[in-house]
Amino acid sequence: MQTTAVVIGAGHAGLAMSRRLTERSIDHVVLERGEVANSWRTQRWPSLRLLTPNWQTRLPGHDYAGGDPDGYMPAAEVVATLTRYARLVGAPVRADTTVRTVRAAPQGFEIHADDDVLYARTVVLATGACNLPAIPAVATAVPRSITMLTPFTYRDPGQLPDGGVLVVGASATGVQLADQIHRSGRPVTLAAGEHVRLPRAYRGRDIFWWLEATGLLAERYDQMDDLTRARHLPSPQLTGAPGITFSDLNALTAQGVRIVGRLGRVADGGRPEDEPVLEPGRRVGHRLGPRRRAPAAASLRTHPRRSPHTPGAGPDHRGDQHGAVGDGLSARPLVARPPRA
Ligand SMILES: Cc1cc2nc3c(=O)[nH]c(=O)nc-3n(C[C@H](O)[C@H](O)[C@H](O)COP(=O)(O)OP(=O)(O)OC[C@H]3O[C@@H](n4cnc5c(N)ncnc54)[C@H](O)[C@@H]3O)c2cc1C
Repeated sequence: MQTTAVVIGAGHAGLAMSRRLTERSIDHVVLERGEVANSWRTQRWPSLRLLTPNWQTRLPGHDYAGGDPDGYMPAAEVVATLTRYARLVGAPVRADTTVRTVRAAPQGFEIHADDDVLYARTVVLATGACNLPAIPAVATAVPRSITMLTPFTYRDPGQLPDGGVLVVGASATGVQLADQIHRSGRPVTLAAGEHVRLPRAYRGRDIFWWLEATGLLAERYDQMDDLTRARHLPSPQLTGAPGITFSDLNALTAQGVRIVGRLGRVADGGRPEDEPVLEPGRRVGHRLGPRRRAPAAASLRTHPRRSPHTPGAGPDHRGDQHGAVGDGLSARPLVARPPRA
């Protein structure tokens, strides 16, 4: 098949691109390894809600028109919205088609997708930025007797064996899962690296209203003081769950979640597999070394490395009470302790 453009991925980005190409009468095809909105169908836990308000779910030619602009869409509604949008814009999606290789060809690109070969002058990679869990090397030292999940395979607390749970990573996903698992009655320890704390709302408006109004969300890469840092900032500690105004470390501590520092290593990884690595009530699952003891939540220090572009530098950021600890850990596997024999 020969076409002008091949778009890989039928998520928000791929569908928006399809719409823009159609507007310009550019022939194209959208190749999708699953179905439209595959990431939201297969890689999100069911109770997840967007942390961005509904009014902000905008695609070219389509604004949110539902009855709850200030609410936060559940994952299933995101799937429905994207599926409707794909139909609305007539996106030429080829589902169940996985692109295996893209090579330079004399007049563009040669694209191998399952058994098909396509030729296109342009390829748009809309394969998503969050489609591979970032699992730290330390995970290899976790004994196999410990159930380990990433958010891609986590569905709900009922899936976890009895006992304590260590959640690694305290950005949006980590704080939401720590909260949910703790509410299910399990003792939860949260290993927090660098993170960005934001209040859900400020002066009666959602924080995303402020981020948009102040122009922070529209900043281009060439306006950043430190692009590398901006690209590696963790997602803010926010949740779209109704009634939750703060999902930061203080709120979790008040609920009874134990906060420790960045996961360093698994102690005694060579022990027999039935040795517990995480015991509720005391920290034995990891050690941070003599100079990097995990501080209690109350003694968290302000992390000085905050760029002017960090949303946490905003007006309601109580930095000296909620500093970030450690160097950041983007991976968020869950480590659950199996029941004692
Ligand atoms: C837990 C979580 C919560 C989030 N919450 C929010 C939020 O509240 N608000 C927000 O704005 N953003 C949120 N995001 C970010 C969100 O994922 C993006 O905003 C949005 O989904 C990105 O759309 P996308 O099209 O770039 O990527 P995706 O939706 O991931 O789409 C990429 C598509 O490419 C397909 N694909 C990948 N590789 C191939 C291949 N080789 N061949 C064919 N197809 C392929 C995938 O199947 C997928 O359908 C969240 C992300 C995560 C992980």
